[in-house]
Amino acid sequence: MSEPTPNPSTARAQSGGSYDAVVVGAGFAGLYMLHRVRGLGLSARVFEAGSGVGGTWFWNRYPGARCDVESMEYSYQFSDELQQEWEWTERYASQPEILRYLNHVADRFDLRRDITLDTRVLSAAFDEARDRWQLRTDDGAELSARFCIMATGCLSSTNTPNLAGLDSFAGPMLHTGNWPHERVDFTGKRVAVIGTGSSGIQAIPLIAEQAEHVFVFQRTPNFSVPARNQPLDPAVQRTVKRDYAALRHRGSQMPFGFDTRSSERSALEVSHEERLAEYEDRWQQGGLPFLGAFADLLFSSEANETAASFIRDKIRQIVRDPGVADALSPRGVVGCKRLCSDSGYFETFNRSNVTLVDIATSRIEALTERGVRTTEAHYEVDCIVFATGFDAMTGALSRIDIRGTAGVALRDKWADGPRTYLGLSSAGFPNLFIITGPGSPSVLSNMVPSIEQHASWIADCIAYMGERGMRRIEATQEAEDAWVAHVNEVADATLYPSCNSWYLGANIPGKPRVFMPYLGFPAYVQKCGEVAARGYEGFVVTCGSAPAGT
Ligand code: FAD
Ligand code: NAP
Repeated sequence: MSEPTPNPSTARAQSGGSYDAVVVGAGFAGLYMLHRVRGLGLSARVFEAGSGVGGTWFWNRYPGARCDVESMEYSYQFSDELQQEWEWTERYASQPEILRYLNHVADRFDLRRDITLDTRVLSAAFDEARDRWQLRTDDGAELSARFCIMATGCLSSTNTPNLAGLDSFAGPMLHTGNWPHERVDFTGKRVAVIGTGSSGIQAIPLIAEQAEHVFVFQRTPNFSVPARNQPLDPAVQRTVKRDYAALRHRGSQMPFGFDTRSSERSALEVSHEERLAEYEDRWQQGGLPFLGAFADLLFSSEANETAASFIRDKIRQIVRDPGVADALSPRGVVGCKRLCSDSGYFETFNRSNVTLVDIATSRIEALTERGVRTTEAHYEVDCIVFATGFDAMTGALSRIDIRGTAGVALRDKWADGPRTYLGLSSAGFPNLFIITGPGSPSVLSNMVPSIEQHASWIADCIAYMGERGMRRIEATQEAEDAWVAHVNEVADATLYPSCNSWYLGANIPGKPRVFMPYLGFPAYVQKCGEVAARGYEGFVVTCGSAPAGT
C-alpha cells in the first residue's frame, strides 16, 4: 500500500468544530486511540502536524531507520485479523515498511476521515464552566472537546544543538528526526554526522557506503550490539502466528514488555566462562535481549561491568585501529543510555572513508560556511547530519500551551520536571489524558503494547464515565505525589540515574534532571488495572458538580 498524497486544503478545512474527543498526533498512539474512541460511538477528531499518518515512522526517514524490537512484537495486537494478515518481511522492519503498515491500519480501520493532517495544535485550555477543552490550531481554527488526548509522542520533538555559527553553514543540514521525503544522495559528498545515539548508529554505515567521506562527531561513545537483522523466514512467521497470543503474553510478562528472554540469575552467581558463554550466545543472536542475560545488569555496577567489558572486547576485536577502538569504547554502564542495536556500525570505522572525530577531547567550537570547526581542526564538508536526538517525553507537550483549572499552564507545573499520575493524567488538568506520558513505562518498554494498554485504559475510563453520567475525571494531588515518589524510588534502585541520558532530560541544556519513564511493564499494567477496578482510585470523578467517587 502506498502512502497517499495528502490534500492539505481539504484536510485543513475540517479543523474547527465540537467533538467528544480530540486526539493530538497520528502515530501508533493517535491511530489506535481514534479507533477506540469511535468504538464507543463518540465523535472524535485527530490533528496531526505532519502531512501523513505514522508519527515517528513518518518523520524518521534517514537511511537505516528501523525498529529495534522485533517486527512480530513491534506491532499492534488489538486485531487478530490484522496481525494474522500482515506479513513482515524482516526481523526488524525498516522505516518504509512500518510506515506502510501504519498507512494500511489507517485504511483498514477507515480512520482517515477523522484525521486532519498538516495541522498543529497550538493550545488547549480547560473551560471549567463547561467542562470542555478549547483548542486552537495553527490554521486559526477553534474547536472544543470533552476529552483531550495527547498522543504527541515521546520522541517527536527534535533537538538541534544551538551551536555557534548554525546559520553560517552553506550546505544542507538534515536532522534524522525530520528527514526529507525525497531521496538524499550522498554520492561524492563529504558528510559530517553529529551524534552517535541509536539514530546515528543506524545511519552512519549506510551514509558511509555512499559518501565520499564521513566525519563522525562523537561526544560520548555508545554501547551497541549487532541487530542481526535478516529476512523474516515465512516458516518462523507462520509458527508465531499459529499461537500469536503466546508470544504477546510472554512479552507482557517481561520488564520491558517484549520477549527479552530475561534470566532470573545474577551475573555474579555464575562462573566467568558461563557468563561469557551467555553474552556470546546473545551477541550472536543479536538485538536488545542482550540486556536480559542476567537479572541484575541494571541494578549492580559490578554485574553491569561484566557486560560492559564484554562489549568493549568485541569493539577491540572488530575495529582494526586500536586508537579508534578505544575512542569508540564506552566507559559507563550498559543500558543506562538506551542500548543501541546496529548493522555493521563498528565495522564502518575500518573503512578508509570514515573518520571518527572525538569531540569529547576536542569539542565543536562552531559551524562555519564550509564545515565544522573543533578546538583542534576544521573539517570541510558538503552536508551536515544532526543525529542529535529529541527533547524527549515532555518536548512535544511543552510546545503546546496547555492550561488546566485556574488557567495553570502545564509547562509551569512541570517546570521542575513532569508530574503525573500513572503517566496518564496530571492533577489540575481534568479530562486530559496523555498516552505514554512521563511516569509510564513508555520508552522503557516495547512502545506498541504500552500504547495499546494506555489507549484501552483511556477508552475504558471514558466508557465508565459515560455509563454513569460522569462529566469530569481528574487525578488527585495525593495520588500524583505518591506516584511520582514511587517512579523515583523504582528508578533510584537501578543504575539508570548514573549517566547523562535523555531519560533524565540531561541531553537538553536547562532541562530539569528527573528520571521520566517508569521501569516495569507488568507491575505497571497491574497497577492500572487495580486503579480502574477500584472505581478509578486516585482520581476524582465528578457527576455534574457533585463528586461521585474517588
Ligand atoms: P509518535 O509516533 O511520535 O507520533 C506523535 C505524532 O504527534 C507525530 O506525528 C507529531 O507530528 C504529532 N504531534 C506532536 N505534537 C503535535 C501538535 N501539537 N499538533 C499536531 N500534531 C502533533 N519504540 C519501540 O518500542 N521500539 C522501537 O524499535 C522503536 N524504534 C524507534 C526508532 C526511532 C527512529 C525513533 C525516533 C523512535 C523509536 N521508538 C521505538 C519509539 C517510537 O517513538 C514509538 O515506538 C512509537 O512510534 C510512538 O508512537 P506515538 O504515536 O506515541 O508517537
Ligand atoms: P540520542 O540517543 O539522544 O543521541 C543523540 C546523540 O547526539 C548522542 O550521541 C549525543 O551525545 C549527541 N549530541 C547531542 N547534542 C550534542 C551536541 N550539542 N554536540 C555533540 N553531540 C551531541 O538520540 P537518537 O539517536 O535520535 O535516539 C533517541 C532515541 O530514539 C533512542 O534512544 C531510541 O529510544 C529511539 N531510536 C530507536 C532506534 C532504533 O534502533 N529502533 C533508532 C533511533 C532512535 P551525548 O551522548 O554526549 O549526549
